[in-house]
Amino acid sequence: MKRVVIVGGGFAGVSCARRLASNANVHVTLIDKNNYQQFQPLLYQVATALLGPGNAAFSLRSLLRGHANVDVKMAEVISADLTRRTVETADGKKYQGDFLVLAAGAQANFFGTTGAEQHAYPLYSLRDAELLRSRILMLLESVDREPSLIDQGALNFVVVGAGPTGAETAGSLGHLIQTARKDLYNSLEWTKAQIFLVDIGHTVLNGFSKKSQEYAIRKLEWRGVQIRFGVAVKEVHSGYVLLSDGTKILTHTAIWAGGLKASSLSDALGIQTGRGGRIDVQPDFGVSGFPGVYALGDFANIAGADGKPLPQLASVAQQSGYYCARQIVAAIAGKPGEPFHYFDKGIMAMIGRNAAVAEIGKKRYELTGPIAFAAWLGVHALLLIPTRAKIEAFLDWAWDYFGGSNVDPVLDRPEQVAVNWHAGEEKELLRKTS
Ligand SMILES: Cc1cc2nc3c(=O)[nH]c(=O)nc-3n(C[C@H](O)[C@H](O)[C@H](O)COP(=O)(O)OP(=O)(O)OC[C@H]3O[C@@H](n4cnc5c(N)ncnc54)[C@H](O)[C@@H]3O)c2cc1C
Repeated sequence: MKRVVIVGGGFAGVSCARRLASNANVHVTLIDKNNYQQFQPLLYQVATALLGPGNAAFSLRSLLRGHANVDVKMAEVISADLTRRTVETADGKKYQGDFLVLAAGAQANFFGTTGAEQHAYPLYSLRDAELLRSRILMLLESVDREPSLIDQGALNFVVVGAGPTGAETAGSLGHLIQTARKDLYNSLEWTKAQIFLVDIGHTVLNGFSKKSQEYAIRKLEWRGVQIRFGVAVKEVHSGYVLLSDGTKILTHTAIWAGGLKASSLSDALGIQTGRGGRIDVQPDFGVSGFPGVYALGDFANIAGADGKPLPQLASVAQQSGYYCARQIVAAIAGKPGEPFHYFDKGIMAMIGRNAAVAEIGKKRYELTGPIAFAAWLGVHALLLIPTRAKIEAFLDWAWDYFGGSNVDPVLDRPEQVAVNWHAGEEKELLRKTS
C-alpha cells in the first residue's frame, strides 16, 4: 500500500484525493486547516448577503465519504521536509508519504500597501466572506440608528482592484444596496451610499474582450458603482483610504481584490519559489529535485501548451488534481506518465444579478446577460462533486440569479466587526487573530 499525503482540500486537492480513492493500493491522507472545501467563485455573493455560507462551502468528510482508504485531518501544515516527503502540522503531528502533493492554494497579496493587511477586507476564504458580510451589515445597522455616521464614510465602500473578483464584488454590492433600499432599512439615506471601484489600470476584467469589458462597465455604472481608473490605493487606514492622486475617501470598508500570492506555506518549504510565491513545477507537476513531490492548482505556476502560465482558475486546479492522481497511479505501476493537456472552458464573470459575461472555450465565443449566466452555471456545476448539499447549492445559485431570492441581513459576528466611532478608529478587530 502506497501512502499519499495531500495538503489542501480545495479544487486541486479534493479532485486528486477522489481520483486516488478508487485505487485500493493507495492510502490518502488529506490535510486541510478547515474541515470544508471552499467554493471561491461565490464568496462575493456570501460577502454581500445574497447567498448563505452553506452555499459556498462543502464538508470534506462528506465529499470523501465511503472511501476506507482516505483519511481527512483538519490541521494546519506549518512546515514540510520535501526530501522525506513529510509535513508537520501546528499541533506537532507529522505525516509522511511515498508521495506528497502540495495544493495549499493562495491568499491575498497586499503588495506592501500601507495599512492594507491591518484594515482591508480580503476575499479569499469563507471566513473572509463572512467577516465582510458582517461588516457591511454592521454599518447598515449603525447608520440606520445614527444617520450622522454617513459623514464619517459609513456608507462608502471601496473595492480595490477591478479584475474579476473586484468587478463581481462591486456589482454584487450595488445589487445589495439597490435591493436593501427597496424594502429593508426603510429610513436609511440610501442616496448617500457610494461604491468606488479603484484600479491602477484602465479597464475592468483584465483578460476579457473589449466588448465584455464595456458591457461590465455599463452594468457596474448602472448598479451605481463609481469607477476610478489610473489610480492606485496607496494607503488603507481605519477610517479612510488614500489614493495615489492624493484623493482621500472616507470609508470603513476597503475590500481588497488587488491580487493573490501562494499560501504562506510556500515560505516554509525551503525552496526557491517563482512568480507570486508559487512553485514552478515541471511539466508533470513534479517539484524539481524532489521525486514524489508535486505542487498543484493556485499553489503552483503551471505552464500551458504555449509555455505561458495558466491562470489561477478552479478548472485549472481541478484538472491538475485529476492529472496528478493519474501520474501517481502510473508511477506506482512503474508506467510512464502522460503529458498534461488543459481543457480550456473559457472565462466568465457575474456583475450582479441579471448581468454576466462569458467567453466560452478556447475560441472565446462571447456571451452576455442571462445566457452568459447559464453558461457560468453549467461550467461551475462541473466543478461540483455531486452530493446532496452541492446539488442544493447549485439550485440556490440558479434561483438567486434569476430573481427568486432576497438579501438575508442576519448579522452574526457583531463583536468582530465593530467600529469604535467615538474614538474615531476601529476597535482592534478579532478578525486578524481568530
Ligand atoms: C473571490 C474569488 C472568486 C473566484 N472566482 C472564480 C470563478 O468564477 N471561476 C474560476 O474558475 N475560478 C475562480 N476563482 C479561482 C479559484 O477559486 C481558484 O483558482 C481555485 O480555488 C484554486 O484551487 P486550489 O485547490 O489550488 O486552492 P484552494 O481552493 O484555495 O484550496 C486550498 C486549500 O488549502 C488549504 N490550506 C492552505 N494552507 C494550508 C495549510 N498551511 N495547511 C492546511 N491547509 C491549508 C485551504 O484551507 C484550502 O482549503 C476565484 C477565486 C476567488 C478568490
